[in-house]
Amino acid sequence: MQYNLFSSNQYTFFCLSSGSCGNCYFIGNGDYGILIDVGIGVRTIRKRLKEHGYDLPNIRSILITHDHLDHIKSVGTFARRYSIPVYATKKVHHAISVNRFVKEDIGASRRIIEKGQPFQIEDFRFTAFDVPHDSHDNSGYFIEFGTHKMTLATDIGKLTDEMTPYLTKAHHLIIESNYDEEMLRNGRYPYHLKQRITSGLGHISNRQTGEFLAENCKNHVRNIWLCHLSSDNNSPEVAYETVKKHLIDKGMVIDEKLQLHVLERNKLSPLMKF
Ligand SMILES: [Zn+2]
Ligand SMILES: [Zn+2]
Repeated sequence: MQYNLFSSNQYTFFCLSSGSCGNCYFIGNGDYGILIDVGIGVRTIRKRLKEHGYDLPNIRSILITHDHLDHIKSVGTFARRYSIPVYATKKVHHAISVNRFVKEDIGASRRIIEKGQPFQIEDFRFTAFDVPHDSHDNSGYFIEFGTHKMTLATDIGKLTDEMTPYLTKAHHLIIESNYDEEMLRNGRYPYHLKQRITSGLGHISNRQTGEFLAENCKNHVRNIWLCHLSSDNNSPEVAYETVKKHLIDKGMVIDEKLQLHVLERNKLSPLMKF
């Protein structure tokens, strides 16, 4: 186990997996980390943590966005086997408790949060906010640490006025860019699935994400990670180019001061230090 890889007041972020194949994000420092969603297996999480110098004992808490399996797959194991506290809203905890794919009960590791009510985990202050989606509940997370503000919002049915302030004040933004509209339209998905995705309770497109960022996120943002890309209806190149075009059209410059990253499906991302 490796501790103190670098000064503990330096913060780190990386993604262990993104997309319907499973989602898992790490925010931490040189000593410990917090996972947001655990939608991949424990063995894979451990292996990928180790690639960036962390291990399971470094994980202090888990936050859950919503109860779809690609976000909660190994939550029971983390709670029971490793006694790691699991933070989620009451509705999400209830939905997890009745999910037949989650074998182990969260039990004493359950921590209930409320949207709009900030809570502190060590050096990190989190505020959950509402994100429309066809799950029992869905939270985005606004995260404050040191002088940094980070926002994670995924599985977004549609971008709402309620979400906008959390997205606009972030320096570091992880935001869904699920599908290319033309690829979805011409793709092999059945009609009902296409309807579900575009219903306002499914996912948002590269265009919607690009337009929103270009309109609202000009002032503070330094890093944008596009996440939860569809395997059938998107590609890292298409997502990147579409969003980049919208940003450039509004006069934003992609350079070392504003970096645009794409989180590839089921892949460990590079580690970012702040
Ligand atoms: Zn998902
Ligand atoms: Zn979902």
